[in-house]
Amino acid sequence: MFKTALLRLTLWYLLLIVFLSTGFSAALYSVSTRELNVSQQQLEALVERSFFPSRRPPEELLAFNHARLEQVVESRNRIKWKLVYFNVFIFAAGGVASYFLARKTLQPIEENVEAQARFTSDASHELRTPLTAMKSEIEVALRAKAFNIKDARELLSSNLEEIERLKKLSTGLLKLAQNEALVEVAPCRVADITREAVKSIATVAQKRGITVTNTVGQERVIGNQLSLVELITILLDNALKYSTDNSKITITTSSRHRSQQTAIIIKDEGAGISATDIPHIFERFYRADRSRTKSIVQGYGLGLSIAKKIVEMHHGAIEVKSVLGKGSAFTVLLPSPQIKNAR
Ligand code: ADP
Repeated sequence: MFKTALLRLTLWYLLLIVFLSTGFSAALYSVSTRELNVSQQQLEALVERSFFPSRRPPEELLAFNHARLEQVVESRNRIKWKLVYFNVFIFAAGGVASYFLARKTLQPIEENVEAQARFTSDASHELRTPLTAMKSEIEVALRAKAFNIKDARELLSSNLEEIERLKKLSTGLLKLAQNEALVEVAPCRVADITREAVKSIATVAQKRGITVTNTVGQERVIGNQLSLVELITILLDNALKYSTDNSKITITTSSRHRSQQTAIIIKDEGAGISATDIPHIFERFYRADRSRTKSIVQGYGLGLSIAKKIVEMHHGAIEVKSVLGKGSAFTVLLPSPQIKNAR
């Protein structure tokens, strides 16, 4: 599909170049020949007049005029051929340039389509896994000769877990697919956002002996409070998931006056992320160190893609610094109210 599009776009670009080049050459030829014609007519008149015996000029002048007449004709031919060569060169160079230009134009579209196809295939794979697990469990249960109420409960609770996973996955996919603009954007206190987010992970953190220290300042950011709570919850959830028991998670803020942004920093002492994984962790379905994380920690690799999307919707940025085995620090940069409400 892209080959045909590339060819068509190349042809369109080339057509434009041919049109411009021939138009320019035709105009140039017409102007220069008009000038030459004028001087040719003047010369012809002079030569004609010179045949009247009374006004006959000397032989040398006659010969000179003939020579100039020939020169004019020759100049016209020379211009014509030079323009032909110039156009042939422009068509050839334009063809090559058009091809590269068309490729450059189509490249981001092609990459986008490829990413979309990869996303669909990853999504269907992830959706199929829990369904296959449920199906085989039910099939085994149906084949079993003795199937008591205890087995039934076990089967149902296992199925329920898979359904919960499916629900989480479809919610994540939906969030990524939605392309809505932010509604209700207002200055919000970072402390309110982080307090809400901490609440949602508090029970798990407590169970695992992980201390969450929330020392954010008085900073305010412009955004949608609900989305921002979701963003911080994703980061805290990850910090928790990839931390060892009895470790620490800290949430701090700092103002970046020069860029009029507020930074929210979430730091953990967990597994850390390798330098090779860092450029990919915000990609959909990417899970670093699959052999380790996949078996131990549940997830689909969608959390950070959703986090990035929320940050982008707020015209902010998200950065990560991490040392494998030591921990990670995710920094979210969001616009401060001073930008819009400058007094
Ligand atoms: P998920 O956590 O569901 O796998 P995410 O998109 O949230 O998906 O994260 C992508 C990957 O980035 C994770 O699989 C994990 O390997 C890595 N990661 C994210 N946050 C952290 C963290 N705080 N510490 C270590 N690794 C992390």
